[in-house]
Amino acid sequence: MAKFYITTPIYYINAVPHIGHAYTTIVADVFARWHRLRGEDVFFLTGLDENSVKTVQAAKEQGFTDIQAYADSLAKLWIEAWKLLGISYDDFVRTTQERHRRNVYELFKRIKERGDIYKGVYEGLYCEGCEAYITEDELVDGKCPLHQKKPKRVREENYFFKLSKYRDKILGHIESNPGFIQPEARRNEVVSFIKGGLKDVSITRPKIEWGIKTPDDPTQTIWVWFDALCNYLLPQDYWPADIHFIAKDILRFHCIVWPGMLLSAGYELPKRIFAHGFLTVERKKISKSLGNVIDPAYLVEKYSADVLRYFLIREVSFGQDGDFSERSLRTRLNDELADVLGNFVHRVLTFTRDRFGGEVPEGKLDKKFEAETHERVQKIEQLLEKLKVSQALEELMTIAKRGNEYFQSCKPWEAIKSEPEKAASCLLNCANLVKVLCVALAPFMPSTSANLAKQLGVKVTSWEQARQFDLKPGHQIGKPSVIFTKVEANNLGSKVR
Ligand SMILES: [Zn+2]
Repeated sequence: MAKFYITTPIYYINAVPHIGHAYTTIVADVFARWHRLRGEDVFFLTGLDENSVKTVQAAKEQGFTDIQAYADSLAKLWIEAWKLLGISYDDFVRTTQERHRRNVYELFKRIKERGDIYKGVYEGLYCEGCEAYITEDELVDGKCPLHQKKPKRVREENYFFKLSKYRDKILGHIESNPGFIQPEARRNEVVSFIKGGLKDVSITRPKIEWGIKTPDDPTQTIWVWFDALCNYLLPQDYWPADIHFIAKDILRFHCIVWPGMLLSAGYELPKRIFAHGFLTVERKKISKSLGNVIDPAYLVEKYSADVLRYFLIREVSFGQDGDFSERSLRTRLNDELADVLGNFVHRVLTFTRDRFGGEVPEGKLDKKFEAETHERVQKIEQLLEKLKVSQALEELMTIAKRGNEYFQSCKPWEAIKSEPEKAASCLLNCANLVKVLCVALAPFMPSTSANLAKQLGVKVTSWEQARQFDLKPGHQIGKPSVIFTKVEANNLGSKVR
């Protein structure tokens, strides 16, 4: 059985998840579900990076003296959020877990045995927002451009990892595997960074209480990025990962430091690393100080998890920056989900119930229509293979749009009086199209797909089912009900936290 291992970044726990985190995790979930539906042995890993100084700061701000108790309370909130959004992860790693510490030790040991760890002095800048050393020429007005904060000046005696030793190997791998880093703009960014000269990296820090202590030297704590990256190796049987999904601000850690660590320790490299863009809210960076941090739970409660999933995937071209606004979400819900998809499905199912006693009628299969639909499903598959998830969902909606046009053009409500066979054939084909939609929607909108499956009286067990019109005359459908309700403008609240 083909295996498929997919990861999200592990997130910092200085706050609860916002829609930016939800976005990455939802996209990963779509791929995990799609590969499962194709019968593959899927492992989907997500989790939390708890060993950051950010955790300590946030815990103190919130009056916790026990940092672990704070971490536990936050982990609970993250897990709840993913449950609300229908995230079907197979494992949830927390870096304060003992199994993770053992894993980090193992990797550290292997790299040390390779002779790639040495003691040295780091003198320079450290951005606590990035949890990384930063150089003078990366600053804008003396501040880290990502965090708008002045970095700390530090002089530390640390252990270093001989990353420079792997420069040519990493570069060679990137150049001979064009799909390794995607999209292309990110790949070019990494290549030019490496060509600009690759230095060794400090992988431990002194005087840091919280975190994983360095093996054989408890005065040092392992640098939180070295610590975090190791999480991906946790499901050893599934390594190498098929895809690491990341955001573009953590590109270098994943595309340079991580491959260097793996090469040193003698592991295979991940197959693909895909960096998506930033999500803004109403064209502004998501930030606590701007007060535009939207809680996904609020959106799920007001709309639904599937509506949010649909919106984020459809609105943002995967790999590019994108914008969230509740207004655009409502427009897509009303104009696309309710008017196109919901309308088509409801017309077909209620007509079948009212005029054919809830049975898919006897009729003639429209081979041309079936072939056209099959072609679109194949296109969805090709787009998903290329990680073009937004275009795949767009194509899926084209199937629903074609369904509406088809239903409209054969006018079964008129034909039923003069040419009942024509009406029956129309419904036979449209019911089959509803089934195709029900299956194809499963990775994107799992609850909607399950709801449709119930109304249609079918079970979704494999992606193959999206490829044929195999719903037979005489098939009994369930009780039709509306799948999407429009939300009007006057009901537009805005809740931020
Ligand atoms: Zn920073």
